[in-house]
Amino acid sequence: MSSAVTSAAPTKTLDLGPARALSCRECGHQIPLAAEFACPECFGPLEVAYDFAGVTRERIEAGPKSIWRYASLLPVPTNVTEHPNTEPGLTRLVRAEKLGKALGIKRLWLKDDTGNPTHSFKDRVVAVALAAARELGFTVLACPSTGNLANAVAAAAARAGWRSVVLIPKSLEQAKIQMTAVYGGTLIAVDGNYDDVNRLATELAAEEEDWAFVNVNVRPYYAEGSKTLGYEVAEQLGWRLPGQVVIPVASGSQLTKVDKAFGELGKLGLVEPTPYRVFGAQATGCSPVATAFAEGTDVVRPVRPDTIARSLAIGNPADGPYVLDTVRRTNGAVADVSDAEVVDAIQLLARTEGIFAETAGGVTVACARKLVESGQLDPDADTVLLITGDGLKTLDAVAGHVGPTATVSTSTAEVRRALSG
Ligand SMILES: *Cc1c(COP(=O)(O)O)cnc(C)c1O
Ligand SMILES: [Zn+2]
Repeated sequence: MSSAVTSAAPTKTLDLGPARALSCRECGHQIPLAAEFACPECFGPLEVAYDFAGVTRERIEAGPKSIWRYASLLPVPTNVTEHPNTEPGLTRLVRAEKLGKALGIKRLWLKDDTGNPTHSFKDRVVAVALAAARELGFTVLACPSTGNLANAVAAAAARAGWRSVVLIPKSLEQAKIQMTAVYGGTLIAVDGNYDDVNRLATELAAEEEDWAFVNVNVRPYYAEGSKTLGYEVAEQLGWRLPGQVVIPVASGSQLTKVDKAFGELGKLGLVEPTPYRVFGAQATGCSPVATAFAEGTDVVRPVRPDTIARSLAIGNPADGPYVLDTVRRTNGAVADVSDAEVVDAIQLLARTEGIFAETAGGVTVACARKLVESGQLDPDADTVLLITGDGLKTLDAVAGHVGPTATVSTSTAEVRRALSG
């Protein structure tokens, strides 16, 4: 027996890859990695801090054809692919010449995240949250959701063999409700809007010790998943940063993390740290960040959402102030567009590029158009629009606007009449 009677029993050390601590975004106070989301000193939001080592383009390029190629830049276990999870990411980045012409942008690309396992970018953040939650000792995957997150959580839990508990506002689109329920977890429709559901989830997270609410108690890890959009855009452009990027804003997390990703790539020497501008896109019916931007304030006043862009309908966006910081620091802007402009833009995108996006994609394309017209987006800069979800989820948005050109009997003459009419 050793005489070291004072040494503590060996505990399993946490393996969250390059993640080293949680750091407060407001006061910089650091705490050890844990399932915490608020700073114990000032209640500011906590964010993952890293010590990166051995990250090279070659290693990334030799990795899996999914977000896991960037595991050495994420708060996930070193051998993350040994555990059951989804494999989102490495969605296509397409050159969009016809849409570019329609919008007046010379070199335009679309990051098409409709191609993820549950057809939105939320698969990225959920896959990272699940990997971290497993390492942190959780056994249930949960979330409050405006829809896409519900789909992603239910699917990832099913694949990992975890129980899921998903809370949604009961007024959600049918497609998003069914597309969550089909994966077999617990789905609870709440009589309230998203902000009510989010409050309920925060109360539950304090009571249910085994539940990882991906966007509440493990939010710092979850949020890092959005960085993969930034890494992919840079890699797919040939390891360089775009001149400007337009990103839809709900809580604002995605926008701030794409900026964080571009910054990391520059600091690590994986890309030239060339200047880039970040633009946010909101629907006018839920545009608290665009309003604060236009008014020149730092204060994001909560609103009651009223828009067809339900996936972006967060009236009290947690990362709103950080979105304002990011767009002001990079000389970008936050725009907002009406529901009618969203529906037009969904059709414009489909008709020019063959991509059917959900309402959030319509918001992004319509805001890009508005930002070019107002002279804020530079028509000569390399521009990327993030198309974050699939149109099949929000068919209602276009239901009254598109349909058959004609209905005919089985007669070639009638078809000809329809063709000439
Ligand atoms: C959630 C969501 C967003 C925005 O995400 P935040 O990080 O909360 O701003 C954008 N597009 C789609 C389709 C979404 O589901
Ligand atoms: Zn703090």
